[in-house]
Amino acid sequence: MLAVTELTFSYRPGGEELFGALTREFLPGAVTALTGASGRGKSTLLYLLGLLLRPRTGQVLIDGVVASSLSDEECSGLRATRIGFVFQDAALDPSRTILDAVVEPALYAGATITAVRPRALQLLDEFGLAHRATHRPGQISGGQAQRVALCRALITNPSIILADEPTGNLDMDSAEMVLSALVAASTQGRTVIIATHNAYVVERAADVVQL
Ligand code: ADP
Ligand code: MG
Repeated sequence: MLAVTELTFSYRPGGEELFGALTREFLPGAVTALTGASGRGKSTLLYLLGLLLRPRTGQVLIDGVVASSLSDEECSGLRATRIGFVFQDAALDPSRTILDAVVEPALYAGATITAVRPRALQLLDEFGLAHRATHRPGQISGGQAQRVALCRALITNPSIILADEPTGNLDMDSAEMVLSALVAASTQGRTVIIATHNAYVVERAADVVQL
């Protein structure tokens, strides 16, 4: 179970304080939509949940463990094994192939390329991207890039998926495909949190956090 207690954050000492002591559980096996106007802290909350930032006050809890107080090394370990992050606009390295992009997080988690390649190809196949494995991010559409980013997030079979506006710049058909994939990931028992402006994403979510 992923939760936050009494969470606040600010980028600078004495700067704007975000989240107003947020206490919240995030449901496993469901999609939670994270909404609110631009600048309210949606991305920042995903970074905190993903242990990429540390709270100013309060805690991030993963299965009852105060993850936000662990050492950098322990946080990296949790990120590598428990958390899949889909960054805004997919953020794929333009110089590497799609297959390499998908495989990379598993290598951080200690897998060998030989062991992980079949799963990467299987994920790409599930998302209709098998024929793109040797292409580079510049050669695929925005919707395909988001699906690659999702394969990348799923490669380590994490229990938590954090996605930052994954349908933000997509046409309706591509957005639907990405959203369906995220919903499917949640029905396999994962906690899926989507930062979004889109009403149809919010409608499909089981829970909503309004910042
Ligand atoms: P959202 O994703 O909801 O648009 P963000 O989490 O990106 O909001 O930003 C929340 C607030 O923090 C905004 O006021 C933004 O300007 C500020 N902010 C975001 N990133 C930084 C940063 N790296 N340094 C300083 N302030 C930041
Ligand atoms: Mg944002």
